[in-house]
Amino acid sequence: MKEKGNISINTENIFPIIKKFLYSDHDIFLRELVSNAVDATQKIKSLSQMGELKEELGDLTIEISVNKKKKTISILDKGIGMSADEIKKYINQIAFSGATEFVEKYKEKGDAQQIIGHFGLGFYSAFMVSSYVEIKSKSYINKNKSAYWRCDGNTEFEIKESNKKERGTEIILHINNDSKEFLEDTKINEILTKYCKFLPVEIKFGKKDESKEDGKDKDGNPKYKTVKVDNIINNPTPIWNKSPKDLKDEDYKKFYKELYPFSEEPLFWIHLNVDYPFNLTGILYFPKIKNDFEVQKNKIQLYSRQVFITDEVKDVVPEFLMLLHGIIDSPDIPLNVSRSYLQADGNVKKINTYITKKVADKLNELFKENREEFENKWKDINLFVKYGMISEEKFYDKVQSLALLESVDGKMRTFDEYKKFIDKTQKDKDKNHVILYTSDINKQDSFIQDAKNRNYDVVVFNNVIDSHYINHLEQKLEKTKIKRVDADILDKLIDKDEKKETVITEENQKELKEVFEKIIDNKSTVLTVDALSPNDNPVTITLPEFFRRMQDMAKTSGGNPMMMGGPGEMISVSINGNHKAIDKILKAKTTKTKNKIASQLYDLALLSQNMLSGSELTSFVKRSLDILSK
Ligand code: ADP
Repeated sequence: MKEKGNISINTENIFPIIKKFLYSDHDIFLRELVSNAVDATQKIKSLSQMGELKEELGDLTIEISVNKKKKTISILDKGIGMSADEIKKYINQIAFSGATEFVEKYKEKGDAQQIIGHFGLGFYSAFMVSSYVEIKSKSYINKNKSAYWRCDGNTEFEIKESNKKERGTEIILHINNDSKEFLEDTKINEILTKYCKFLPVEIKFGKKDESKEDGKDKDGNPKYKTVKVDNIINNPTPIWNKSPKDLKDEDYKKFYKELYPFSEEPLFWIHLNVDYPFNLTGILYFPKIKNDFEVQKNKIQLYSRQVFITDEVKDVVPEFLMLLHGIIDSPDIPLNVSRSYLQADGNVKKINTYITKKVADKLNELFKENREEFENKWKDINLFVKYGMISEEKFYDKVQSLALLESVDGKMRTFDEYKKFIDKTQKDKDKNHVILYTSDINKQDSFIQDAKNRNYDVVVFNNVIDSHYINHLEQKLEKTKIKRVDADILDKLIDKDEKKETVITEENQKELKEVFEKIIDNKSTVLTVDALSPNDNPVTITLPEFFRRMQDMAKTSGGNPMMMGGPGEMISVSINGNHKAIDKILKAKTTKTKNKIASQLYDLALLSQNMLSGSELTSFVKRSLDILSK
């Protein structure tokens, strides 16, 4: 008995349209077909558990094989199977109408590219790579009859009885000439590893290697030898679906290695598990961050019921957590929609909030459980935490109490602890706490030492994100100023309004200014004579906080060349009127001597800011030697 019929769809020939749409991601056909095989297998398992199945379940392994000579790919399952009527219903009507719907929906929209790889076209995607497709199926109910179906992707199909003996379905794709790459074992293996690695039913890829020549036949054509290597390619019970209480640290670490073989051990991880108001499981790992953190981005993989969907999780995971690694598995993330829609999706928003909260909770737990260990990890996690604090208000509120400030001596304190710590020493005349920081311990050493001499503390902010972080903190922290230790002389950095008497007259001040103005060949320098302690430096060069911060920000955010002026373009020079060496300038008899001392003092100040180089450095060395020889 043989029947011919027409698939009832309203679009005459949707095949070319779909083919065009999905051009860049043909790979997903295999994901779709294997997913169907998995579904059919899960269904037979459930039926068996419910006692609906009389016979033994038997081996349920899904088998995938490629026959290069026949140009076919076969996907064989031992699931529930389909009768001829079911094929007509499910494949002809459902599968094909799904495809029609897809075309209708996205015909006008230009964002087809975005949905590629997300939207499961189901069975129909087989036609992206096939000239024709065959189905051989035997339903678990209809013991005596098996069905055979064939279709070439147009609206015509053929259905008849088949000789299939075992329960289940075999889909045979006859690969078209444009898709020959899929006849390579390595290609299929690659797709299976990408999409099917954690599917819940064992999948065997029978790598039939038929390309080996084995003599000639009687007509002189080459004969081929078949070498078969069987291989289970997936892990059907990945740990994210297990209960955390059944897992040890080793299991998490082992899984991490499985996902990212070349990465260092993760710092810690979060096991996600919710079933209300949305369904989500997964494990997020905190990796050790390397300097070039761009390469560490986009490592989270999104799954839907153990089927790999994408590693573009941009809209599901908050931006600041993009550096995390791991797996998120949720059937509730809509995959068949465009990006803008995804961002507005209620579930996605909830998931976003949930993940943010989980991460904040985990950090709080670590902080409370073991402060020492938390401090050790701070170096590696501070980037996330700071990034999160800047970008998510809620996250800021949850972790502000555990964010640490590290002093140059290595001590770590929370903001509250730090405020108490500097309460007596670093408050200015307006009762602001002034946090002094260095961005480079070595380069700013002389300033750090000066601050220490006054019993001031200096914290380290040397992370790429810190200039943005500092800006944010200043907006958030009340009555707190944050200043780089070399941004001004200390008396001005922490202005306590303690006026020191200057010992020099106005006339002398004027003279000093004139001497230095001649030496400093820079119009935008702000020159002041200040009454500092005789123990402070005679000349101090500083980079005003505001301009310097603009420079830093420009550097990290791609750069506004206007701000990128070299050092010396916007500097303040403070002359300490109370220093003995300055007094020497005033007392010197000749202009030549005055200039010499002033130049020497100015160069020393430049030197401690790492700003002396080239011919200026050479003349400084020469002048120093000169002075020593006299
Ligand atoms: P979806 O899987 O999204 O429902 P498909 O187009 O992939 O859509 O498949 C349509 C229907 O065909 C499935 O819902 C299922 O009932 C049936 N089907 C497809 N493949 C198989 C299979 N290997 N075994 C049993 N039934 C199948």
